[in-house]
Amino acid sequence: MSFLAPDRLFKRVTSIDPVEDIKGAGFTHVLLDLDNTLLTRDTHEVPDDVRAWLDELDRLGIVACILSNNWHHGAHEWADRLGLPIVSHAVKPLPFAYRMAMKKIGAHRATTLCIGDQMVTDVWGAHGVGMKAYMVGSLVETDLWHTLLLRNLEGPIMGHMKPEK
Ligand SMILES: [Mg+2]
Repeated sequence: MSFLAPDRLFKRVTSIDPVEDIKGAGFTHVLLDLDNTLLTRDTHEVPDDVRAWLDELDRLGIVACILSNNWHHGAHEWADRLGLPIVSHAVKPLPFAYRMAMKKIGAHRATTLCIGDQMVTDVWGAHGVGMKAYMVGSLVETDLWHTLLLRNLEGPIMGHMKPEK
């Protein structure tokens, strides 16, 4: 496994098949990025198909926790609405919040998958604590300036990778 690049790359969070790609791959727990992975950065909504995808995780008994660098109140409101636990102010890629989130849902790193739309925060953070990371395309192009800055690093490292689906 390369440390810098994601273990797998998908077009969108809903492209990940919960049965095959999560449960079938041996994962029982997932740590989910919020902004632009589950929640649109522009209109601040969780699209219906993303909600249905989260419901499927729940039906399969996969335990999820939101792990977000977001420091706004809205992150907790969304977690409540989605019925998911959350660790916010995560300062990904630093390891501390990953450990908090794992503890919160009783997860072990070998069977926990991290899913997010950014290489530097979501992928490097997961790999730093020894977890696998699936990277997904952002829900919308709109992003914060500091996010866009970090995205410049993705080209040289991931330029050869194409989303599998
Ligand atoms: Mg994100």
